[in-house]
Amino acid sequence: MRTYSGPFLTTEGFIQAEINIEGGKDEDDIWGDDDTPSVVDFEEGGDSGKPAVIIPTLYNAHTHVGDSVVKDVPKGNIPEVVGPGGLKFKALEKSSRDQMIKSIKMYLRKAVEDGIRDIIDFREDGVEGLSIIKEAYEDFEDDLRLFLMARPEKNRYNDWELNNLMNLSEGIGVSSYRDWDPDQLRRVAEVTKSFEKPFAMHCSEFEREPIEEVLSLGVHHLVHMIEATHDDLLACAIEDVPIVVCPRSNMFFGKIPDIPKMLDIEVKTCLGTDNAMLSSPNMFREMEVAYRCAKMKGKVDPLQILMMATWNPRKDLNLGYHNSQKESNGDARETYVILEAAGGKPAYDVVTKLGPRDIIEIVEW
Ligand SMILES: [Zn+2]
Repeated sequence: MRTYSGPFLTTEGFIQAEINIEGGKDEDDIWGDDDTPSVVDFEEGGDSGKPAVIIPTLYNAHTHVGDSVVKDVPKGNIPEVVGPGGLKFKALEKSSRDQMIKSIKMYLRKAVEDGIRDIIDFREDGVEGLSIIKEAYEDFEDDLRLFLMARPEKNRYNDWELNNLMNLSEGIGVSSYRDWDPDQLRRVAEVTKSFEKPFAMHCSEFEREPIEEVLSLGVHHLVHMIEATHDDLLACAIEDVPIVVCPRSNMFFGKIPDIPKMLDIEVKTCLGTDNAMLSSPNMFREMEVAYRCAKMKGKVDPLQILMMATWNPRKDLNLGYHNSQKESNGDARETYVILEAAGGKPAYDVVTKLGPRDIIEIVEW
């Protein structure tokens, strides 16, 4: 048995706690099983164990895992690199199915090693795209919850295709309002909701998009909102539509999300790493960049950034599995990352100083 004590991140913030762990590969296991380490005892206020910082497993609320196969250094603006027909899609066309599966597996393995247990992925290439990612994901199903939001292959409504996507995916995540004919997009949104599945989209990433029309589609969440006005963000807060920000991806294109403004307006805010061709899945890096670029825009508490990668997506998006609210996900697993203590304020330490190499172990409760 191992004992750790230190700051423990709850939905309300850090509390001092002590936990006892049993199992896992660090212990002599006569049966040769590599069983998951699990928490056998929790005591609030205890401090006799090895010093540690304990947080829920990290939640990456926005990726495009599929473009991990693209290895070129991208050149150009957002539409030229990741827009329909852009560099990314040309590179994907040249890649074989085997190459794609291999790259996706490598990416997912890194995500698991980095302490991530939930990912929301916007999956391109319609039905074929889903078939590729599902084959790659088979090896990771026990460790990682990959929530797949698909999209029609040609940015056009097609009844047959959409019905197939509804059966094979968990929702729809489209590129942007500007890439679609509004009537066709509305039909996609309506069909998605008739299946009681979430419909989400990128919004105001390259240029401002009409928020009234976007919100009237009944979106589950929006990604980016860099070019959104104060009133656009306020509309999201009023309509209770969460925003996922991906600062490393935005900065690649010379843009910085205004995280302090989003937090001031009290819009629900989560964090993701976006395109695999631009960024690793590492949420420690994303939190650090989010914190530093938030400071360039105003004041931010590092705890708010840490929450964007842990509890906010669980509460606000409610699409995850690990540590999710038990009411909506009956059999959700509770999983925590135990980090080497850095000795300072825990949220600041996690966001600015700690990383995957500081993970002592990942435990189940
Ligand atoms: Zn994206």
